[in-house]
Amino acid sequence: MITTVTLNAAIDKTYSVKSFEMDRVSRVTDMIAVPGGKGINVARVARLLGEPVTAAGFVAGFNGQFIRSGLDTEGISHDFTEVPGESRLCLTVLDADNGTQTELLEPGPVIAENSLLTLKEKVKELAGRSTHVCFSGSLPLGCPPSLYAELITLAREAGAEAVLDASGDALAAGLEAMPLLIKPNEHEIVRLLGRPASSDDDLAACIRELMQRGIRHVVVSLGARGALAGSSGRVRRVAIPAIRAVNPVGSGDAMVAGMVTALRQGRSDADVVRFGAACGSANALQKQAGVVTDEDVERIFRDITVTDY
Ligand code: ADP
Repeated sequence: MITTVTLNAAIDKTYSVKSFEMDRVSRVTDMIAVPGGKGINVARVARLLGEPVTAAGFVAGFNGQFIRSGLDTEGISHDFTEVPGESRLCLTVLDADNGTQTELLEPGPVIAENSLLTLKEKVKELAGRSTHVCFSGSLPLGCPPSLYAELITLAREAGAEAVLDASGDALAAGLEAMPLLIKPNEHEIVRLLGRPASSDDDLAACIRELMQRGIRHVVVSLGARGALAGSSGRVRRVAIPAIRAVNPVGSGDAMVAGMVTALRQGRSDADVVRFGAACGSANALQKQAGVVTDEDVERIFRDITVTDY
């Protein structure tokens, strides 16, 4: 199976409001609340693609119960580590009249040392039953920046390949453990290497550098421009068709789910990124983050070209 690890799981709540104004009372016309966090989105897409998947990580309090029961309703297996406190509520206020999107993100629980030990045992156990473990998103308060590196090493020792989709210090420190695949976007790879990348040539040089460090798949996603993907020493351009994007939030997570699914199916390096990009674009066609349909994925896949860069 695939295991996804979301250390800062959340309730993603979206309010639709007419003419949202600061310092005024606004009436919510529509509300949707779903389990969220990058790894949970990966799990949702992997399940929709037909893969056996378990979502893990930390949950806390009433919000944690909501996350678990929401995953039950969606039919997504989960095995979270319960910690004291309250899981995050991430609130998005959509104002269709003005086209604005305002986000309020709670910090989430502070993780104590004993909870870290419990999580490590859990990751070891789940990795022993998984082909791939995907680590996605930010580290909650209380977690050392080295945590992803430790978890990646544990997962590999238990027999699973590790995928890391994080940013900032968590990504930089996690790379030390040589995950199989990383999927930074443009901003994340620039920050990681600490130098500007003003052209695709610069990005390709960054990808080559990371492959030389020993990361087999370095996929830089470029939103509506597709991706530049490095695999086994070769860099490829992934050109995607134009689509009418509805909501690209979660497209990176859908891309990760697609790539892991394709890796499990033993597809070629070029088809791994092609399928991943198809899932990312299919996600952008849906209102909810982390949702794709087989028909969209297959149609977009056919229209994607992958060429040597
Ligand atoms: P992240 O969410 O991690 O920043 P991206 O926004 O780069 O990731 O999206 C990942 C993939 O999803 C892209 O490589 C592309 O295939 C697809 N995608 C994202 N946004 C769009 C869009 N507006 N139109 C078409 N495809 C998109």
